[in-house]
Amino acid sequence: MYKYDYLIVGSGLFGATFAYRAKLADKKCLVIDKRPHTGGNIYCENKDGINVHKYGAHIFHTSNRKVWDFVNSIVEFNRYTNSPVANYKGSLYNLPFNMNTFYQMWGVTTPEQAMDKINSQRKEMLEKISSSGTGEPANLEEQAISLVGTDIYEKLVKGYTEKQWGRKCTELPSFIIKRLPVRFVYDNNYFNDKYQGIPVGGYNKLTEGLLEGIETITDTDFFQNREYWEQIAEKIVFTGKIDEFYGYRFGKLEYRTVYFEEEELDCPNYQGNAVVNYTSKDVPYTRVIEHKHFEMFGDEVYRCGKTVISKEYSIEWNDSLEPYYPINNPVNNGLYMKYKLLADKETRVIFGGRLAEYKYYDMAPIIEKVLDMDII
Ligand SMILES: Cc1cc2nc3c(=O)[nH]c(=O)nc-3n(C[C@H](O)[C@H](O)[C@H](O)COP(=O)(O)OP(=O)(O)OC[C@H]3O[C@@H](n4cnc5c(N)ncnc54)[C@H](O)[C@@H]3O)c2cc1C
Repeated sequence: MYKYDYLIVGSGLFGATFAYRAKLADKKCLVIDKRPHTGGNIYCENKDGINVHKYGAHIFHTSNRKVWDFVNSIVEFNRYTNSPVANYKGSLYNLPFNMNTFYQMWGVTTPEQAMDKINSQRKEMLEKISSSGTGEPANLEEQAISLVGTDIYEKLVKGYTEKQWGRKCTELPSFIIKRLPVRFVYDNNYFNDKYQGIPVGGYNKLTEGLLEGIETITDTDFFQNREYWEQIAEKIVFTGKIDEFYGYRFGKLEYRTVYFEEEELDCPNYQGNAVVNYTSKDVPYTRVIEHKHFEMFGDEVYRCGKTVISKEYSIEWNDSLEPYYPINNPVNNGLYMKYKLLADKETRVIFGGRLAEYKYYDMAPIIEKVLDMDII
């Protein structure tokens, strides 16, 4: 007889949402997490009254009404709309690429003028690609110029992408950038989704709401006492790394990671926006996040005399760093499939979430997935 119906390894959004639904289904759950806190990557630390996104800026966005209603049943969401700004050698440009960006770049004021400008800058590259043997862009640089022309590529894409990947755009495969959306309207809203926002009071409110009344233990690594944990519950929901679950027997999956340099500043408003991308290679970091702007709007910003910023650096991943973004190249995908074949044979273990499925997921699709699961 097991003590619990489910042992849930990982208190991130997948594990916490699963636990919430299992509790509603009258299942007895225990959630463990190796970190000193719950919430996984959406965890925030409060500093000077500001919720600091410790594992990277998180903006909730979805067009799925069921997911939006679900998260709002746990915590109310604010009106935050993501409108990042790019800083290229001191000049500012709105993102995503839209009529505001084109005005800032070339002084054009009508969609027709902007389209003409972009098309004239793509022409040469499109001709080069179509006359090449394959008819396909040879690398990321060719792909990007063929999509948005030379100016936008040089000022807003090149340096940022090279910092992100640690390689020249001419050495990166073209498939990394499948699309570079351009909008011929004045609209700085980064996402096309119907709903977006940040939980009022921060993401921890969402996690706490999901895990309310559920037994949870932090600072506890499943692998430190695997045999014990395996016999405590009838089923295990595993949201950690799938290669680690199988003792890395086929080899290690690779990740891309980011490093955050956090600073507390004695000023109420450092950059006037939550997200500023630094798109030139002269600046070593890719973005600066000013956390208070996720939850404080207009004059509210000045009611808190301090601010917290995070400079975001892209760095090569090794075992001691957070595994953030899976690198879904053919080698890693092949490796993952080997682990997945083993996982598919498990009868007591459910693998879910970004690490167990070796897949980048935004928050809303994670929730959608759990809402669609049969919990028996
Ligand atoms: C830098 C960054 C920015 C992002 N920004 C956005 C955004 O703006 N909008 C958006 O929608 N999504 C964003 N995401 C995606 C979002 O973070 C994920 O969708 C979400 O966190 C996935 O939840 P999860 O439960 O799968 O994983 P996690 O949040 O990683 O949770 C897994 C948990 O399992 C625990 N764990 C692992 N192994 C063990 C073990 N052996 N024993 C015990 N516990 C273990 C971990 O400590 C962790 O708490 C971003 C992701 C990153 C990396």
